[in-house]
Amino acid sequence: MSEQVSRRAATGALLLLALVPAASAAVPRALWPGETVTARGARSVVVGHGTPAATLAELARRADTAALRVADVLGEPVRPLVVVPASAAEAARLVGAGPVAGLAALADGDRVIVVPDAFARLNPTGRDVVLTHELTHVAAGTDRLPPWLYEGFADYVGYRDAGLPVPVAAAELAGEVRAGRLPGELPGPAAFAADGRDPARLARAYQEAWLACRFLADRFSEGTLVRLYRAAQATGVERALAPLGLSVATLTARWRGYVREQLG
Ligand SMILES: [Zn+2]
Repeated sequence: MSEQVSRRAATGALLLLALVPAASAAVPRALWPGETVTARGARSVVVGHGTPAATLAELARRADTAALRVADVLGEPVRPLVVVPASAAEAARLVGAGPVAGLAALADGDRVIVVPDAFARLNPTGRDVVLTHELTHVAAGTDRLPPWLYEGFADYVGYRDAGLPVPVAAAELAGEVRAGRLPGELPGPAAFAADGRDPARLARAYQEAWLACRFLADRFSEGTLVRLYRAAQATGVERALAPLGLSVATLTARWRGYVREQLG
């Protein structure tokens, strides 16, 4: 799931508002001068720029679904704020810097920013997976975690209720495994560097991370995965793994066996 997390405060020239917290029911003040449109779901607020009403309504409905899925895993209410710029260029300005080409949505602080053209090209399942993935980043945070854990966790939540078979959701990795090539280590920052030169490697990085988190939920429990995530944010991943009798090295070994079992 290609996306990007920005820790930067959004400072683009278009951004005129101090965004309300995602949990607030208040309407954000004008995001774009005079042209902001807003839709409300049961749990979500969607703010668009010249966005068709039907698109806003669909996003509010999908953001509500995503919120329920994330809340079900995290055990806490989630109230999404989704921002829909008019174009990918406008999305790039909103996040301040960094390419958004190829991204369908991204987490940016307390909000999810949708890249309209790329999002529109996704099928309905993909739209729900992407929104749920990004909303997981917003709700759970990513600081101080290795990328395999925060990207894998976001995909764990994103795919949990999507109804896709593992070899379908992890098609690129499945191809490698069937060719006899198992990944040797959990994907690090270099594997997630979305420079566009090797999109298949990037796809596999997400799939590898996803299966690491899915392994933890399958072999221990979903609650264990959530507690590990929280503990790793506080103390680092090695210390968080210790109560499970795991280290990163032994997790890696067991994850490789799980990947072979799921995709071989
Ligand atoms: Zn992500």
